Amino acid sequence: MKISKVILYDEPTVAEIKIEEIKQFITDTFQIKVEINGNFFERLENETFEKIASTRIFDLKKQFRKHIATQEEIQIERESQDTAEQDIMILYDGFELQNIIAENISITDDTLHIVFTNKLTATFDNDDFRYHARALISSNPTIISTTGMVEAPAKPKQYYLDLMTNFSEEKIEAVKEKYKGEFLEYHDPRLSGIAEGYVLQAIMYYTTGDAFCESKECRLFNSHWQKDLFHSQLENKKLCDKHLEELKGIFT
Ligand SMILES: [Zn+2]
Repeated sequence: MKISKVILYDEPTVAEIKIEEIKQFITDTFQIKVEINGNFFERLENETFEKIASTRIFDLKKQFRKHIATQEEIQIERESQDTAEQDIMILYDGFELQNIIAENISITDDTLHIVFTNKLTATFDNDDFRYHARALISSNPTIISTTGMVEAPAKPKQYYLDLMTNFSEEKIEAVKEKYKGEFLEYHDPRLSGIAEGYVLQAIMYYTTGDAFCESKECRLFNSHWQKDLFHSQLENKKLCDKHLEELKGIFT
């Protein structure tokens, strides 16, 4: 699908996402118009907040079933723009949330909407019958979850093992210190560079239908580990030859 414009929706609670730099990145890479909008989740109708709350996931091993939202949960949605993401770890069904966003913006084929949010999105995987956290929900609108960037790609196995064998708060802190820098944390300065990679994946997917690449040396690599994310999005930062050619082909 050819696009002539991208609209970015900012997530103001995550200042590390440098929306102007991401705009510049898109303009430089794709030579298309980019517009920046505010937070999508601000100033919605009460009914929409209720719908969003109804996409909450409570059991990772069950397929999506609409949840009947309580008044308190709706209130949490209304106030979520003022709350740090690590304080409200709620899991949402990514595709259901995507549908709700789609209902609230006017979508045309030539404009791709990319919504940044601190909400943690997950999708149900029919291979292992459980939900997995996701940083990226592709299509139009695309959702990029900043919490998903931190939580979805796995941390080193040894980190989890160390945590499991060190129970005191002091020791847990020591374990965290030992692995510091090896994976993303909340408000990590590296978030914006990583977000660029997800934006690139979203635009490539929408325009070519090619979601991911098998090669770790490509920015379209689907990283399941934090260390692969760092490699493909921050150290290497390049597309493989095949995808570079595809990128050139899009706008010629
Ligand atoms: Zn590639």
